[in-house]
Amino acid sequence: MFLLCQQSGVQIAATFRSGIVSAAGYEAVASAVGERSEGPMGSALNRSETFGNPAVDGVYERMYLAILEHRLPPGTKLPEENLATIFEVSRTKIRQVLARLEHEKLVEAIPNRGCFIAQPTVSEATDTLAARRIIEPGIVRALATRVQADHLARLRAHVDDEYAAAAAGDDPATIRLAGEFHNVLAECAGNSALARFLHELAALTSLTILLYEAPIARSCLPDDHLHLVEALEAGDGETAANIMHRHLQAVQDSLVFDHTERTVDLEAIFGHAPAS
Ligand SMILES: [Zn+2]
Repeated sequence: MFLLCQQSGVQIAATFRSGIVSAAGYEAVASAVGERSEGPMGSALNRSETFGNPAVDGVYERMYLAILEHRLPPGTKLPEENLATIFEVSRTKIRQVLARLEHEKLVEAIPNRGCFIAQPTVSEATDTLAARRIIEPGIVRALATRVQADHLARLRAHVDDEYAAAAAGDDPATIRLAGEFHNVLAECAGNSALARFLHELAALTSLTILLYEAPIARSCLPDDHLHLVEALEAGDGETAANIMHRHLQAVQDSLVFDHTERTVDLEAIFGHAPAS
């Protein structure tokens, strides 16, 4: 049962971490979702799940990509009426999109306040990456037994795009392509259920990285992705599974949770009482 997002004013406020760090108007969301990303991964979206309505599917895909590219940061408010105007569709269609994003935990609906891009908690963030460390080594182990030349060509082309985006300093594309690489692996493995899980977990990971990654740290690096492709090419499922596990652990290790999980310093609050 989904909560229906409620329209509450036209101001779009983006909150980040512990408080509001930026407030943007209509243009912020319009800009975030209006730039349609092109690339090899239009197809990385799991096309097996659609609304059966091209307009609704299009809105969903643009919002999903905006989340992957960090153009819609955690905490961004998503008023139905503004989105309906931006995408030139009815509010009913916007509600369908928001309900699906809520179901995928990418959007949070707060009664009487409206819908917001989700802000995963520390435990949700670690749960997401723990789930990925269980699922994804299995995906590459299975893929190694059935990998085809066209899979390898697609994966290598994707990694080439990752290097090109990084070299060009195109951060949104770099972030999106890094997340999408994992979706491509799941698609190539040919298990639609796992591909669906990954579709959701990859976007949750993107939100998590945006919230918690150290400013200088970079995770989900193309070098690891290249080594994975090479292991798959060699038909070495165990090596591929090990690389994947280490890679996802490195993503988790790059996260910095200190900002949000502060421990209470009782001494600072109550003063230091000398031992009697
Ligand atoms: Zn990765």
